[in-house]
Amino acid sequence: MTTANLNTASEMIHSTGAKIIDGRLHARRLREELRIKAAELLAKFGAPPKLTVILVGDDAASRLYVSNKSKACRDVGIESVVITLPASSTLDTLLAVIEEQNRDASVHGILVQLPLPRHLPVHAVLERIAVEKDVDGFHLYNVGSLAVGTAVFPPCTPYGVQKLLEAEGIPIAGQNVVVVGASNIVGKPTAMMLMQRDATVCICHAKTRDLAQFTILADILVVAAGRPNLIVSQMVKTGAVVIDVGINRLPDGKIVGDVDFDGVSQKASYITPVPGGVGPMTVTMLLANTITAAQRMWGEPSHARAP
Ligand code: NAP
Repeated sequence: MTTANLNTASEMIHSTGAKIIDGRLHARRLREELRIKAAELLAKFGAPPKLTVILVGDDAASRLYVSNKSKACRDVGIESVVITLPASSTLDTLLAVIEEQNRDASVHGILVQLPLPRHLPVHAVLERIAVEKDVDGFHLYNVGSLAVGTAVFPPCTPYGVQKLLEAEGIPIAGQNVVVVGASNIVGKPTAMMLMQRDATVCICHAKTRDLAQFTILADILVVAAGRPNLIVSQMVKTGAVVIDVGINRLPDGKIVGDVDFDGVSQKASYITPVPGGVGPMTVTMLLANTITAAQRMWGEPSHARAP
């Protein structure tokens, strides 16, 4: 695709209103920058940034995610190694593998693909990853550092949401932000990161009474509930920025977000499509965190700033 085409895609306006935020375009631009950084590190230190992904079991979706991550790494010049363990692996075996990667100075980032088989306690596993290699940002130390505004590695999906807002020049400070969804990996960290950027933030979840009374106040509405059509146009303020994180597969195989795109895009000022919105940014921010980890380990000025 030519630069001219890319620009046209970026300026895509939905026929009836909202500007469509092209996550693929923004991800591609960021990856161009990351490719340059990775090449600089290779030239200077004789080795590329390196990510180890640990996959336990043979869940088909997890295998696909891991293979996409490896492909994305190759695309920007990050070396990726996938360690696959059988689903029956014990906690001790998994922790020993993590320890080995913690000690390996050539490894800059470590990621354990979730979900884990049920007999493996997620927190005990994530907390064994060295904080300075926790590029997913799920270690309790990283979660805590996010809460006090000095994130070591921002978790990838919320980081991608923030980058999309920045790339579109959408102001965050002073805005009313409503986050629908309160999970530890998306909703809560997104709310915290945007609060650190001086937004006034409200978090809604499944037990929120009358969701619409909150969503209608949002200047920026971030939806991460995993419920197709949860947000319809009557729930959205005219001119709101709507970021749809949800990914849902309908019975006919179609992938949709949590927002009724056709209805809401007539009222919003900006909206992310699904697919092609937040999704491409998530893996890109994993690459950014891995390069940041390598830069820090090699004592280089870091590419990304903590939010
Ligand atoms: P999750 O762990 O299932 O959390 C869902 C959250 O939404 C929970 O806090 C839940 O409330 C809340 N919720 C559920 N139904 C609701 C309702 N009717 N009204 C208001 N809140 C409701 O899911 P997740 O991991 O955060 O993921 C959320 C969605 O984002 C999923 O579709 C997932 O596939 C997608 N996702 C996308 C990306 C990406 O890169 N684009 C990355 C990660 C996840 P309770 O806490 O009260 O249960």
